[in-house]
Amino acid sequence: MKRTNSSTTTPTNNKRPRQTRQQLYALHDASKYGLAPKTYSSTNNTNSSNKAPRPSSNDVKGLSLSLDEITGKLKVTPKERKDLETFKTFLSFKTVSADGPRNGEYARAVSFLENVAKSLGLDTKIYELVKNKPILLCSYQGTDPSLKSILLNSHYDVVPAVNEMWHTDPFVPVEEANGDIYGRGAQDMKCVCIQHLLAVGRLVASGKRPCRTIYLTFVPDEEIGGVEGLGMFLAHSLAHSLTHS
Ligand SMILES: [Zn+2]
Repeated sequence: MKRTNSSTTTPTNNKRPRQTRQQLYALHDASKYGLAPKTYSSTNNTNSSNKAPRPSSNDVKGLSLSLDEITGKLKVTPKERKDLETFKTFLSFKTVSADGPRNGEYARAVSFLENVAKSLGLDTKIYELVKNKPILLCSYQGTDPSLKSILLNSHYDVVPAVNEMWHTDPFVPVEEANGDIYGRGAQDMKCVCIQHLLAVGRLVASGKRPCRTIYLTFVPDEEIGGVEGLGMFLAHSLAHSLTHS
C-alpha cells in the first residue's frame, strides 16, 4: 500500500521495526560484552523507560573510587573538576569519522585540543595534510636532542552512535554522581587524548624537563583505517624530522 503523508497516520500493529545494518552491528558488538539493551525503540527518543539499565561502574567488582560515604558522590578536587569538564567538553564534539571533515567538527575539536595544550604550556602546530582532516602535533622539548624522542599518539575521531543503543544523547556527555561518564568516544579514545595532554601538562607544571622530547599527536580517521590520518603523517617527512632533528 502506498504511504500517505498524513500526520494522523498511526501504527497499526506493535511489530518491531526493521533494524538497520548499523543497529545490528552495534547490537552484535554490545552483546559480546553483555551490554545489549533488552528492548529497542525505532525512534530517536532517548527516554530510557523502555531500555535495560545502563551499565555502571557500581556493578564492577573490586573497582574502588573515592566516593562520599553519605551522598555516594565522587570526591574530586577543584583541579580534577576542571580536568573532568575539559574531558566532557571534548566528548561533545561530533567527530564521527565520516562527518567530521564535512561539518567542521574535526577542525573545532582540534582547535579545542590545541587551546588546552597551549594552556598547559606545550608547543603546538596543526597540519592539514588532507583537506579538513587536521592533525595536531604538540611537543615538550627535552634536554638532550641527541636522544630519540617519545611519541604519544591518539585519535580524536569516533564511530557513529546509534541513538537506540543509548540512554541519553551520545554527544551530550552525562556524568553520574559516582563519576561515571557516558558519551560517544569516552573510552575509544577521547579519554586517552585528554590523558596524554594532562599527563604531559603535569610534567610541565612540575618544572621537570625530560631528557627526551615528548611529542603528542592527535589524528583523525583512525576508525576508518587511518590512511588519511596517522598514515599520512607517517608518510610525510615531518614525522621523520621528529626523530632525526
Ligand atoms: Zn580507537
